[in-house]
Amino acid sequence: MNIFLIIILLFIVIEYILNFVSRHLNIKNLETELPEEFKNYYDEEDYKKSQLYTKEKTKFSNVNDTVMVVFKISFILLGGFNLIDNWARDLVSHPVLTGVIFLWILILLLQVISIPFSYYGSFVIEEKYGFNRMNLKTFFTDNIKTLLLTLILSGAMFAPLIWLFSKMDSYAWVMSWIFVFILTLVIQYLAPVLIMPLFNKFYPLEDEELKNRIMNYADNYAFNIEGIFTMDGSKRTTKANAYFTGIGKNKRIVFYDNLVENFNNNEIMTILAHEMGHYKLKHILKRLLVSFFTTGVMFYLLSLFIKNEMLFEAFKMDNLSIYAGIVFFGLLYSPINMLLSLINKYVSRKNEKEADEFAARTTGNPNAFIKALKKLSLNNLTNLTPHPATVFLKYSHPPVLERIKNIKNYMNAKSNRDFNLEV
Ligand SMILES: [Zn+2]
Repeated sequence: MNIFLIIILLFIVIEYILNFVSRHLNIKNLETELPEEFKNYYDEEDYKKSQLYTKEKTKFSNVNDTVMVVFKISFILLGGFNLIDNWARDLVSHPVLTGVIFLWILILLLQVISIPFSYYGSFVIEEKYGFNRMNLKTFFTDNIKTLLLTLILSGAMFAPLIWLFSKMDSYAWVMSWIFVFILTLVIQYLAPVLIMPLFNKFYPLEDEELKNRIMNYADNYAFNIEGIFTMDGSKRTTKANAYFTGIGKNKRIVFYDNLVENFNNNEIMTILAHEMGHYKLKHILKRLLVSFFTTGVMFYLLSLFIKNEMLFEAFKMDNLSIYAGIVFFGLLYSPINMLLSLINKYVSRKNEKEADEFAARTTGNPNAFIKALKKLSLNNLTNLTPHPATVFLKYSHPPVLERIKNIKNYMNAKSNRDFNLEV
């Protein structure tokens, strides 16, 4: 059997088993007792509801995963890639365009399979727990817009890559690396003004008092905010959130309308401070640098494998092509990708902890921050007791109880330090 095929299939199965086991442990880890810290926030009923929600979502993920894995493996073994390649070649015979069509058919196929699952997720599970605010019209327009956007952006990225790898030979990987990096920056710059408004309405924050407090706070820490917006998140969900987005002149803070309505200004300030902390502590810049270097390594490895005939044999291809080589390499690269993503999540959890400490310190109001974290948990029915294996595999933030504990420890240690400085 082909060694590439073995690696790819084995990894699909290993990843599936890892996720399955971690979800199983996660359900087993649901505790019957409401954690002490949350006694004044959750009543017994809320707590039960949050556990049922975790269970139901977890089981649904297992079903979704199982269908996807069976599909992937059968598609690979039955020569699905070759079939699609032949269709694409029948449609157009141009080395770059054929490649883009090949990729687009794959994207369409994945989209079609995922629609029933996302329908069930929103209209059955989220609906049952009172989160869903989406109607069918929003669901379908969202799906169509996402699909069109994916086709446009993937085409814009894929076409030049195919061209570079067919013309540039040994420099192709460097050129591709630079190209992809620049394109990513351009998309990040334009996303808040061109892409996000396709899905949501953004309004400048109206609350003058809150706006002034945010501006003063940002001034104090020499931080440029180009805009403070609220977004109609309630169009889809009752869940609340806030985020910074964009780079350079388009850098803005966005609050979900649910957040502005249900949280007081002190709490909102601490959430803002946390987000700003990510910039001030250079998390965003570091992440960008890491992704720059890992992308470079990935393109270098791609250049070593892209024309390897064994890779094409693994997928039963009649013809060799640059574009299929890129897609196959993507599959071969997934173990490395998973390893990188685990490292990223570990670093991200550390960064979240630092941003929490930044928020507690700079607002001088750790209690408001802790209250905001608790309210967010209740509002979103967060799992309060995830299993460490799930945290390790999936969590970009530490579990909420750990965050609260850390903020308290940090503030205690800080007041001891300050006291020592005084004497
Ligand atoms: Zn954060």
